[in-house]
Amino acid sequence: MTSVVQRLETGQPTFSVEFFPPRDAEDEQILWRAIRNLEVLDPAYVSVTYGAGGHNRDRTIRTTGRIASETTLVPMAHLTAVDHSVTELRNVLGWYAAVGVQNVLAIRGDPPGDVDGEWIPHPEGLRYAEELVELVRELGDFCVGVAASPYGHPRSTDLESDTKYLIRKLNAGADFAIAQLFFAPEDFLRLRDRIAAAGCEKRMIPGILPLTTKKTLTKTAELSGAPIPDWLARTLDPYADDPKGFRAAGMDVITENCRRLLDEGVDNLHFYTFNRSKATSELVERLGLVPARTG
Ligand code: FAD
Repeated sequence: MTSVVQRLETGQPTFSVEFFPPRDAEDEQILWRAIRNLEVLDPAYVSVTYGAGGHNRDRTIRTTGRIASETTLVPMAHLTAVDHSVTELRNVLGWYAAVGVQNVLAIRGDPPGDVDGEWIPHPEGLRYAEELVELVRELGDFCVGVAASPYGHPRSTDLESDTKYLIRKLNAGADFAIAQLFFAPEDFLRLRDRIAAAGCEKRMIPGILPLTTKKTLTKTAELSGAPIPDWLARTLDPYADDPKGFRAAGMDVITENCRRLLDEGVDNLHFYTFNRSKATSELVERLGLVPARTG
């Protein structure tokens, strides 16, 4: 089995992709088309999100297991502490190991239903991602990632405490952090600087959203809380009623953002794909991340 860290230590910039588990047979076909299309570009790893609700969770195990056994890709399964006792978390991790998944993104998760609702830990569960990192580490030879927020987590009172807790979970045994999406590269670079200034040398990976439609922009900005910078609004406003023009301008902006990040020494770009391959493939090609690197 190959770890994410091994795949990132190639000395070359790499990309990776995120999928969500399919809800039904049609979704599954769409996902697997995207997986096969991206497989030929050799992403460093592919991650599969973990949602609230039993079926959704089974689907993460099944999908990452299939990726491990039926493709050449290196899978990473997300895992959240939502509504799980420690025994259940151990069980899911046992399944991950059994289906050949060695990489885990350990996150706390949001309260089911209302993401802004009160976070109530399971009575026999965990309270913070830091504890989940410790559990994953304790259970086996997993490579572990965590989530980071360029603007501070919405529940954090200030950036200072947010940085402190991010570093704590990294030091609890995580190998790297993947950042929530942002539209201005400086915002990610500032997060990376905060971590480095505090003496933490763990790898920070930017989460990149291919900007293809106006709806993607407004919806993801709303859900993630990432601000839309004035310059971006000015660039895209003329295309409000021109989907083709919007896509072209949006993809140009994201290409430039990625170039800036690569120039700043970022060595892995993690693309949020929404289970589609076209925009990510286009960006990877434009950025010269093809042909594939070996890891
Ligand atoms: P934590 O690190 O536990 O932080 C939560 C809050 O508590 C923060 O405000 C933090 O500063 C504070 N805090 C942390 N530790 C302490 C402490 N010891 N004492 C006091 N305060 C503390 N959600 C899903 O449901 N499924 C997914 O698959 C998923 N994938 C994601 C992938 C990425 C790359 C990212 C960036 C996010 C993802 N999320 C996912 C969303 C994530 O679950 C939410 O952002 C969640 O609200 C926080 O998770 P966390 O791991 O950052 O929490």
